[in-house]
Amino acid sequence: MADNALIRLGYWMHAARLYRDLLTAAQLSPSALAQLRRRRLAATVRHAYATVPYYRHLFDRAGMKPGDVRSEEDLAGLPITSKEVLRQLPREEIVSSAVPLERFRGYTTSGSTGVPFTHYKTMDDRLRHLMTVYRVMVLLGLRWTDRLVSIGEIFYARGTPVQRLGLLQTEVLHPLEPFERQIELLRAFRPTVLVIHPSAARALGLALLERNIILPPVRLVFTTSELLDRPTADLIGHVFGTAPRSVYGMSEVGRLGWQCRPGGLHHLSDDFVIAEVVQGEKRVPDGETGELVITNLIYRDMPYIRYRTGDLVRKVPRACTCTHSFGQIELIGGRVSELLVLPDGTVRPPLFITSHIHQIPGIVQYQLRQEHVETVTIQVVTGVGYDEGAGDRLRREVEAILPGVRVVIERVLEIPRTPGGKHRYVIVSPEVRARIPTLPALS
Ligand SMILES: [Zn+2]
Repeated sequence: MADNALIRLGYWMHAARLYRDLLTAAQLSPSALAQLRRRRLAATVRHAYATVPYYRHLFDRAGMKPGDVRSEEDLAGLPITSKEVLRQLPREEIVSSAVPLERFRGYTTSGSTGVPFTHYKTMDDRLRHLMTVYRVMVLLGLRWTDRLVSIGEIFYARGTPVQRLGLLQTEVLHPLEPFERQIELLRAFRPTVLVIHPSAARALGLALLERNIILPPVRLVFTTSELLDRPTADLIGHVFGTAPRSVYGMSEVGRLGWQCRPGGLHHLSDDFVIAEVVQGEKRVPDGETGELVITNLIYRDMPYIRYRTGDLVRKVPRACTCTHSFGQIELIGGRVSELLVLPDGTVRPPLFITSHIHQIPGIVQYQLRQEHVETVTIQVVTGVGYDEGAGDRLRREVEAILPGVRVVIERVLEIPRTPGGKHRYVIVSPEVRARIPTLPALS
């Protein structure tokens, strides 16, 4: 018993230290931040080389030693790692041998391409993850007295010493719970902060409008896991009383960035993320669009060095007045795996299309499928306000964005969501994806 209490105490002290370090990093000058990154990068590659067989192998193959990585530029000597590669390796190859295997817990995500990927975290890395989650919210105005509801993400802390003091009360709900439960919880718990996936917020928002239910406004809304488009942001602002801020991240690598202003650019967690933008294997100059590749500088037990995120981004000059020194990126509108391909070989990011569809009345749910390059099928679940005119408008607007592609609309009763409750708006078949071997320029 006493042992358990001690372990728990050690755990919370560790969390408090991590949290303090993250907040301190948000006060560093640009040069101090650069120094911290260099120090952390050196420690990350040293540790990965010494204890993770996969990374040791990558270094050896590239003829490099950890000491060769003295700056972020030097990282480019190592190959890029992806989910697809890690997925095929046994756990002991990709996690640190400094920790007994039984201390790792596996987390499986369905991934944007629908192929599951299991990543592993120790309690230590889980704490690091959780503290990065809170750091973003604190920078954006979270207070100890706030009451938080998360619809979608389940890892928020509950039953902690903080909450036993009555602070930061938190409720968590799965987005596949019926709307009645979601609405009941929001009414009874009266959150001041809501964390929700954009697709879940859209579905819940439409359900509230249809039922003529007005909820008390919340103070802060954060969306996670999926890109937030303008019409969904407007809907959230309308039903929850505040404009949402998008928080960008992935469950395996934590909170990578966040919008400090609704609709604005995303800051990057520069204290623990090195961001590179690549096309294929090659880095592109700042300002050019490509896929984001990240190196996480604080996870120790399953490291991520030059890890493909699958997201289209562009590095942009910092343009805000926040007190911290973190830089900014622009999220271009979707994932590489969800790019729709035109017969002439050019591509369109999914958000170009979904933000149009979200303005058409009566479309409750939808999914675009591109099985062949000539045709896109849009399945729609329709509700109040949908008529033939709306269907025509949908077809016309999507055909205008995808010249040369025939758009077929299919009304269906339901579109299944992923087990995690996310919605896949766009599914592009491997055959179509194979037409763009490296990321092409966007037109
Ligand atoms: Zn800012």
